[in-house]
Amino acid sequence: MNMNTQTHKPTPAAGATLLVRGYEVVIGFETHAQLSTQSKIFSRAATAFGAEPNTQACAVDLALPGTLPVMNRGAVQRAIEFGLAIGAHIAPRSIFARKNYFYPDLPKGYQISQFEIPVVQGGAVEFYLGDEKKSVRLVRAHLEEDAGKSLHEDFVGQTGIDLNRAGTPLLEIVTEPDMRSSAEAVAYAKELHKIVTWIGICDGNMQEGSFRCDANVSVRKPGAALGTRREIKNLNSFRFMQQAIDYEVRWQIEQIEDGHAIQQATVLFNPDTGETRAMRSKEDAADYRYFPDPDLPPLVIAPAWVDQVRAGMTELPRVMAQRFVSQYGLSDYDATALTQSRSTATYFEAAAQACGQPKLAGNWITGELARRLNAADLSIEQAPVSAAQLGALITRIQDGTVSNNAARQVFDALWSGEGTQVDALIEAKGLRQLNDSSALEGIVDTVIAANAKNVAEYRAGNAKALNALVGQIMKGSAGKANPQQVNELLKAKLG
Ligand code: ADP
Ligand code: MG
Repeated sequence: MNMNTQTHKPTPAAGATLLVRGYEVVIGFETHAQLSTQSKIFSRAATAFGAEPNTQACAVDLALPGTLPVMNRGAVQRAIEFGLAIGAHIAPRSIFARKNYFYPDLPKGYQISQFEIPVVQGGAVEFYLGDEKKSVRLVRAHLEEDAGKSLHEDFVGQTGIDLNRAGTPLLEIVTEPDMRSSAEAVAYAKELHKIVTWIGICDGNMQEGSFRCDANVSVRKPGAALGTRREIKNLNSFRFMQQAIDYEVRWQIEQIEDGHAIQQATVLFNPDTGETRAMRSKEDAADYRYFPDPDLPPLVIAPAWVDQVRAGMTELPRVMAQRFVSQYGLSDYDATALTQSRSTATYFEAAAQACGQPKLAGNWITGELARRLNAADLSIEQAPVSAAQLGALITRIQDGTVSNNAARQVFDALWSGEGTQVDALIEAKGLRQLNDSSALEGIVDTVIAANAKNVAEYRAGNAKALNALVGQIMKGSAGKANPQQVNELLKAKLG
């Protein structure tokens, strides 16, 4: 888990244009999200990752003669869920088309996709970039099948073809060219990733290629028409995404400044050199000779199905964040951090319920817990301290049993598995705060008597001299005194 993903850089005032060397950056995204169905989009073959090459492609996936594709209902349901999550129109009738091209990993010679009428139309992804609210409009999201994979690594001087991935269901999600910086593009991609994993339509595993982004990038002088774009293919980490876009923007500006026109192209990012390199000149739609697939009828989605899917959907992250603000009085920032993932939100609500202190619970989760999870590279599901334990600990801070400092020691002990019961740990480690005022008074009197100089300074108007006395008293109580109580007692005694 990473709670610190929100960038808190200063953002320009609304309406101001963010410029790089006098150029405005324009970015549009095409994202392939692999849908989390057990079987392929048009066949019953399994979609599991990592199987022996060519053990999971069946005759339908390869379009062998005599086979017919049959639409996977689960894939359509996931497309509907996505459309509802981003406020899109669900087309009551959409069409599958053949996109024709030759590539070794596509022996059938065409990919089944959607072209003119996609299943999901419009909608928007909303997120925060620093304190600024952004909305990126979506053009469409369409269903399609994935191709196989060319394996270059394991074969010297040869390429192997693994067709296991052929026919795996994808949702291709296309934005308008609405983004204006690499930071905004990454924030969009993270939000989109959060949405698809939150609603469970995609496992989001970027290393395994379940969530792949293509970034279309162009630059222009402010107010000019859109520049020619280059498309950076298959960005499968947020870090590479930012590096690749930044490099591409610099490269395009240099080209233009040197008097060269940008040629539309498809480029690849090389993480080793940090550079983008042209792979091929970009094809146009006409090159693919799209036509409706004669093997598949139109995809008809009845309104009743959409209603049924809507009724079964979980609360979405932004809706949940707004609820955390109104129900628990959290700040927008904390509410966003606590809805970073579903498991974080679940943990938070359980801890808040256990102690009745949502704000304190939120602070502990975004602070102490997040820090430790990051350091140990653990997800919140793997947290050694449960929400119930954290709730119990916060209860003991709130009722004055332990100080914040002592609570951190108890947290440590829970984390390292020294114990599981908060109260038992407080007793075993002698961390109970000294709330007995007669015992405390004794220490206060002793310290006042022994520090005449500080006392005189305080009485002469130096408020800071009190700190030295508080420090002595805390030490005298072996850290068990309640600092607030000590302050009050001291002030009362010194007049
Ligand atoms: P194609 O049909 O070649 O795929 P699209 O019009 O569908 O092209 O656009 C593909 C992606 O490129 C979309 O995400 C769109 O927002 C983005 N895009 C289009 N024009 C530009 C541009 N000039 N600069 C940056 N991105 C662009
Ligand atoms: Mg496209």
